[in-house]
Amino acid sequence: RTVYLNGEYLPETEARVSIFDRGFVMADGVYEVTSVLQGKLLDFAGHLARLGRSLGELQMGNPLSAEEWLTIHRKLVELNGIHEGMIYLQVTRGNPGDRDFAYPPEDTPQTVVLFTQSKPGLADNPQARAGMRVVSVEDLRWGRRDIKTVQLLYPSMAKMEAKRRGVDDAWLVEDGFVTEGTSNNTYIVKDGRIITRQLSQDILHGITRASLLRYAAEAQMQIEERPFTIAEAQAADEAFFTSASAFVMPVVEVDGVALGSGRPGPVATRLRELYLEESLKTAI
Ligand code: PLP
Repeated sequence: RTVYLNGEYLPETEARVSIFDRGFVMADGVYEVTSVLQGKLLDFAGHLARLGRSLGELQMGNPLSAEEWLTIHRKLVELNGIHEGMIYLQVTRGNPGDRDFAYPPEDTPQTVVLFTQSKPGLADNPQARAGMRVVSVEDLRWGRRDIKTVQLLYPSMAKMEAKRRGVDDAWLVEDGFVTEGTSNNTYIVKDGRIITRQLSQDILHGITRASLLRYAAEAQMQIEERPFTIAEAQAADEAFFTSASAFVMPVVEVDGVALGSGRPGPVATRLRELYLEESLKTAI
């Protein structure tokens, strides 16, 4: 695999980052994941905009222009022959040459890493036909979940808890309400209405979420942005989650309770089709 590191395209075995890198010792970095379908980038403008915002919230500059980011993404897709898959990008505060809590001087070069992951079957995903099962886990993450940082230990722990309990993912719960999934935004459907938590510092502002809600509104579907509980999810007609890599993923069971028919519902199924169709129109 060819990866990108600080201006160079390299074989992955030759890409090296300092042990003092702030990303390594402090999780001081942000990332984005953009999916590739039919060799094209989905929701690219949204991902770049959020990258800029995450960097800004952490007082980091954006090391590259929009055009440069696009060129690197496209080149990696081409060099690695990615038809369906993902591109991961990460920017850290770089290598201050030692470990220190204070940020290094602003002219310290940031570390920029991008790599691809080939994922055939991303669009025609058997899991989307079966639906996923989730369990609730207490949300013990930090208070700025709107910043897409690389500190992902707690979501990893929650994912492992879900696996231990024999299901696919965890829905995180704070003060009795679902915040989001380990790596996705969560929704329920009741009487045809799509219910999803409103944006705040409590959740990541999903790029897939933003596009999907726009497409759903254009299709005259009813949307309610508010928090919901696990009990409400268990009594819902349907549930699903969204992320750049899962698109729209039906959820068929919450904490052992099957939803509706126990199969992916019509709204989630339609929204998945709608998202794939519409996002491909603006893919670049
Ligand atoms: N929420 C969390 C915590 C995430 O990690 C992610 C994606 O990684 C999402 C939501 C979904 O965001 P997006 O649709 O931009 O992939």
